[in-house]
Amino acid sequence: MAKHTIVMIPGDGIGPEVSSATRRVLEAAGLSVEWIVLPAGIQAIEQGFEDVLPKKTVEAIQHYKIALKGPVTTPVGKGFRSVNVQLRQKLNLYAAVRPVRSLPGIKTRYENVDMVIVRENTEGLYSGIENEVVPGVVTSLKVASRPACTRIARYAFRYATKRHRNKITVFHKANIMKLSDGLFLDCARQIHDDEYPNIQYEEIIIDAGCMKIVQDPTRMDVLLMENLYGDLISDLCAGLVGGLGVVPGANIGDDAAVFEAVHGSAPDIAGKGIANPLALIMSGVMMLNHLHEERVATRIKDAYDAVLSEGKSFTRDLGGTATTEQFADAVIAHLE
Ligand code: NAD
Repeated sequence: MAKHTIVMIPGDGIGPEVSSATRRVLEAAGLSVEWIVLPAGIQAIEQGFEDVLPKKTVEAIQHYKIALKGPVTTPVGKGFRSVNVQLRQKLNLYAAVRPVRSLPGIKTRYENVDMVIVRENTEGLYSGIENEVVPGVVTSLKVASRPACTRIARYAFRYATKRHRNKITVFHKANIMKLSDGLFLDCARQIHDDEYPNIQYEEIIIDAGCMKIVQDPTRMDVLLMENLYGDLISDLCAGLVGGLGVVPGANIGDDAAVFEAVHGSAPDIAGKGIANPLALIMSGVMMLNHLHEERVATRIKDAYDAVLSEGKSFTRDLGGTATTEQFADAVIAHLE
């Protein structure tokens, strides 16, 4: 196997704990890798960098084109722009891909959930354009551009085709935001009609869409939406399959990709060694597939599926008592 060079951002809060567990699993499964460990978030400030997203970290990802990232905390109200928003915009990581599936052994209200959220990652209300019009009156600008809406729609349809998925559902609020969400819909429809008419296509107003997800998530396949909706729907859907500890993610651009779990730095449990590393391990599996290391990816996936099926090594979020490291050890013990 060729040796890969991968940027590792351990992150803040539970980030270092789940990152270290994930590294151990990936290496034990046979990944030949040199990690370039670099900071972001509070960790960067603690290490003496002036910004929460050091230039050195961004340049390393631009150079090596691939990163595995733990969650980071952006200090609130201290003038720092969100690390994640900056990273996604600077590297043009325009597609967030978040597969949500029922896992063996994890009992929830739902079975057979298998959907993928494709979230536009660079625009919408995350453009960061806010103004104080007069004292006491502020505005926040929602940006939608035809190139970005078309790009994410094309990505979603291409993804659906490659993964043999049948349907794309766009969540929107174009009844209220007629121009911005209207443009998003217009671009999605056009890509469907012109390039992928063989994939089923539907549009649902997001509030009704939330109800439909909760009533029967199995009718959802690939969900396509703008930035903020994707953020909210990701956490909602995580709740269907066992919580934030079990939902991975990828941020994909044309030149680089950053793999990270959907969850944040979980300050409430940080430093206790009890965080579930599975979401980052699963993000690592997505990264391995991206690197065409399918064999190692499958070994890891089979191992954690086996651990979950046994039901003995659950972390606290899944109702068990295993620590972060014990869960990783169990996965390693099941590698075949
Ligand atoms: P969070 O995802 O950190 O936590 C929400 C809840 O889920 C908490 O109760 C937490 O304990 C639990 N949880 C999350 N991940 C878990 C895991 N792996 N195992 C067990 N339990 C887990 O969301 P939050 O509390 O809203 O945000 C905390 C911080 O994280 C904020 O500073 C936020 O900006 C940041 N954040 C970062 C990212 C990222 O870096 N990608 C994403 C979301 C939030």
